[in-house]
Amino acid sequence: MTPDPRLSNLVQRADALFRDQALSAVSEWKTRTGGLAVGFLPIYVPRELLHAQGVLPVGLMGGRPDLEIIKGDAYYQSYICHLPRSTIELGLNGSYDALDGLIFPAICDVIRNLSGMWQMLFPHVLVHYLDVPQNFDPAIGGAFYRRDLEMLARALEARGARPLTDDALRQSIALYNENRRLVRDLYALRRREPWKVPTAELYVVLRAALLLPVEEATPLFAEYLELAESDESRRPQDQARVLVAGSFCEQPPLALIKTLERSGCYIVDDDFVQVHRFIRSDIPLDGDPLQRLVEAFLTDAVASPTRYIADGVKGAELEQRLAESGAEGVLFCAPSFCDPALLDQPMAVRAAERAGVPWTAFKYAENSGQFQVIREQAGTFADSIKLWSGV
Ligand code: SF4
Repeated sequence: MTPDPRLSNLVQRADALFRDQALSAVSEWKTRTGGLAVGFLPIYVPRELLHAQGVLPVGLMGGRPDLEIIKGDAYYQSYICHLPRSTIELGLNGSYDALDGLIFPAICDVIRNLSGMWQMLFPHVLVHYLDVPQNFDPAIGGAFYRRDLEMLARALEARGARPLTDDALRQSIALYNENRRLVRDLYALRRREPWKVPTAELYVVLRAALLLPVEEATPLFAEYLELAESDESRRPQDQARVLVAGSFCEQPPLALIKTLERSGCYIVDDDFVQVHRFIRSDIPLDGDPLQRLVEAFLTDAVASPTRYIADGVKGAELEQRLAESGAEGVLFCAPSFCDPALLDQPMAVRAAERAGVPWTAFKYAENSGQFQVIREQAGTFADSIKLWSGV
């Protein structure tokens, strides 16, 4: 059985977008439509709101290993993760010139400080610090978040975006619901038949979609799902099923993901490019659409380490994901100096141990270039699962 060339063509297209650090696809979209493009940092912003105002939301996830950091390092201490350095570098070297603004979601102090630096460095663009609540009572955190979204909508309008209307927002929510459904289907296919959806491939498809309008990202997901599902040339191998946790903000180099797969692991669940799955189910289309967006954030978002878990047990969602994915091991794979990921890790480790699932941990930076040690560690971990599971 020969591989389907349409599948490799699609992945090549996605890979080109993933490598499009200067955002030429965004510049082309602006030339074609005359619309505004606004970038956002991890993890989540309600892209529906931007779309409803005719704005292209552009997901930014830092730099890649081949980006030489010349000025970015001067802005940060050595004991800070890498993502803000590359983001500053890309801003200063003109890669983000196509963007009319940036949104910085409140996930950690580094992102908060980066928003202030961006205001000083690029005073001509919109800078919005999306102060997402850590109180999930609709009357308190919900009201606060709604006000924040209204402020964002007004700020976009002041820059030339369309005013936000209920009808437009409802239509945008419907488009993103379909988009999220396809991502859920892709993750479900990978859980069932991980050999059909190599994570290094799925990853570039998810990254490519960050630069595309939802009207193009959804068909990309649909086509990839159909081609991957029907490709019989990929056969199962004797690999260990692992869940990769902790890589929700600064992303590992693609070569690291490939290394994990080559070392004998099938990644059956992960935290990569989480904006596509941050809201877990469809957002209802009835009622007040802005309130529906707020409710989705309050009640239906993933239990990210960046969220305060007031009720329930820390790590309960990880236990549930382990059960659903049939993962036989957990790789805690977090960026160096990432406070949210590393402070959460002890609770997550305890959750894995409650579930009786073995784990191992290592750290990376987005510009890591050597993976031999990680390959040996992940390979030994996978071998030990295959040799001793069920003994
Ligand atoms: S990698 Fe971690 S510490 Fe760095 S910006 Fe992201 S969440 Fe914050």
